[in-house]
Amino acid sequence: MSRIIVTGSAGFLGSHLCERLVAEGHSVLGMDNLSTGAPINLRPLQREPKFSLQLQDVSRGLWVEGPVEAILHLASPASPMDFDAMQVQILAAGADGTRHALELARQKGARFLLASTSEIYGDPLVHPQREDYRGNVDPTSLRGVYDEAKRFAESAAMVWRRVHGVDARIVRIFNTYGPRMRLDDGRVIPNFLRAALNGEALVVHGDGTQTRSFCYVDDLIEGMVRALFAPSLECPVNLGNPDEVSIRQLAEEVISLVGAPLGVRTAPLPEGDPAVRRPDIRRAQDLLGWAPKVSRREGLLLTLQAIRAARADPVA
Ligand code: UDP
Repeated sequence: MSRIIVTGSAGFLGSHLCERLVAEGHSVLGMDNLSTGAPINLRPLQREPKFSLQLQDVSRGLWVEGPVEAILHLASPASPMDFDAMQVQILAAGADGTRHALELARQKGARFLLASTSEIYGDPLVHPQREDYRGNVDPTSLRGVYDEAKRFAESAAMVWRRVHGVDARIVRIFNTYGPRMRLDDGRVIPNFLRAALNGEALVVHGDGTQTRSFCYVDDLIEGMVRALFAPSLECPVNLGNPDEVSIRQLAEEVISLVGAPLGVRTAPLPEGDPAVRRPDIRRAQDLLGWAPKVSRREGLLLTLQAIRAARADPVA
């Protein structure tokens, strides 16, 4: 493909995706309003002629000249810290932003890939989560804002597919981690790693028996690229690592990895915090030949190294 748009290109996943697409020889136009993304994430692409960044808020509209072969729509505040502070922007990115991105795909005849989320399953009553599970979301809750915005985005993708014939595809991304996550974004892995490196106690919400399944970023990007370039993809596909762990166990793993005698303290469980989460990835395996390869130990080590390197040389 000659020209690909990535919305949310200055974010954690967006920047990794842009790098990967450029490395494969594509021209990439990144879009971001830098509300949660950061230009430093795009530093490796700074002198890359095949990459450019357009400062644009997708929820206000998308204006692009010339041909576009594909649009990958990632733009949205996505960390639990943003759920309170950025409720309006989350709703706007999921609803207006997705509509604008789909409309651009229709005008340009471009393929469309929506970065959806395991949050659409809410606090799941079916475990592990298969794509045909419809979820358990409270639309009036604080957490429900992000969930419903993404659920609307999925609906919109299907409407543009059925009504306008856009080749719209959906991936549901489960918890992902790796280099370039904001250390202050409130997610559990950056929180634990930051605390461990600072010699502080790790804060576990609730009793720590809640589970998640963490996917290393390189594996996730591989899945997204496969979903984009597959000859066809007509249904949502889960992307995530099915290796499930309790949050307390994760804390112990981080402590042993860092090798410091750190404690664990507890804090209240946030409202609506899902009790369990694990993707069923059989569909991704069947349709895309994809499965994650990086173990949690390996991925945590790589992330830790990247944080240490960034601290040693903040502008590298
Ligand atoms: N969590 C925790 N300590 C932290 C941050 C998060 O115990 O410092 C918990 C959080 O309540 C949740 C799990 O870890 O149960 C994963 O949280 P995260 O925000 O990373 O992802 P999400 O809840 O969106 O899956």
